Amino acid sequence: MLVVMRHGATPAEIDRVVRTIEEMGYDARPMPGAQRTAVGLVGNDGRVDASRIEALPGVAQVIHVTQPYKQVSREWRPENTVVTIAPGVTVGGADVAIIAGPCSVESEEQIVAAARAVRAAGATALRGGAFKPRSSPYSFQGLGRRGLELLAIARRETGLPIVTEAMDEHGAYLVAEIADCIQIGARNMQNYSLLRVVGRIGKPVLLKRGMAATVNDLLMSAEYVLAEGNDQVILCERGVRSFDPAVRNMFDLTAIPIVHNLSHLPIIADPSHGTGLRDKVTPMARAAVAAGADGILVEVHPAPDRALSDGAQSLDPGQFAELVSELRPIAAAIGRGVVHPPRIVGTPVVAVG
Ligand code: PEP
Ligand code: MN
Repeated sequence: MLVVMRHGATPAEIDRVVRTIEEMGYDARPMPGAQRTAVGLVGNDGRVDASRIEALPGVAQVIHVTQPYKQVSREWRPENTVVTIAPGVTVGGADVAIIAGPCSVESEEQIVAAARAVRAAGATALRGGAFKPRSSPYSFQGLGRRGLELLAIARRETGLPIVTEAMDEHGAYLVAEIADCIQIGARNMQNYSLLRVVGRIGKPVLLKRGMAATVNDLLMSAEYVLAEGNDQVILCERGVRSFDPAVRNMFDLTAIPIVHNLSHLPIIADPSHGTGLRDKVTPMARAAVAAGADGILVEVHPAPDRALSDGAQSLDPGQFAELVSELRPIAAAIGRGVVHPPRIVGTPVVAVG
């Protein structure tokens, strides 16, 4: 439930609403806005009797959020949330963000080469997994802590902020020491204890859609992060399982306008996992930007044929540079630009753990 205060409501009136909500046994979240303040009521599992609150001085309106997710919904917050992953690097604003890099961090040479290549092509942030959720326990599992340290070196060399995955609660704290944005992968989208932990850590979160998750499931998972007080969540469409072996996953483009309608959170698209096929990545990235995606997440490897994971869906640096140049006019056609790479600030490299 959302209590919208009158324009010019006094701090004492707002405080009284907060206290009343707390007396009723719920949590109150005051949200000052440009025009007026709203106070969110959270902690309820059903409709709340609003009569006591409606009668308080300074209250303009009480809105019952109809969706099962609350703080994630557009009813809760009509304006778009802009997630800041580093100074000047935003997702969900006017411009489209480009997050690119290899599936896995493999070596210092590989990740620094990838970072330099994607930055030169215009990427906004570097992706790369240090902890990898692999279908087989015998496949390359990632370099772990060492991988995080190599990502910090790549950031120091290029200035690109880092997006990297956390697979469990302990790992989330390690990842948070380095990452600018913590990725929660498709397989962990409904790992609710992990979602709560990254909510409490408070760093931006990139939440990927589970491979058998509905849009509603995705938004409910995001609600776990917001419920812990962290609204810096980027959603990601990465394809869902289908009956058709022609692709690795079925890339659900429609999810982009659906999410924009239902939620104020930004949504980006991952055409690499969404298709699983290198030659399908570029057309689907173009389509995602045309459909309104707030960014794209693309796997790029300096030598895709030698990649330790997901080489078949990775672009090489030349293909990626061409893709970025194609995205600019597509973004411009719908009144958007592409987020610029950040300045190189020389973030220090630190040991992890
Ligand atoms: C990845 O981004 O490399 C990854 C493992 O993605 P997903 O969780 O979408 O499969
Ligand atoms: Mn991958």
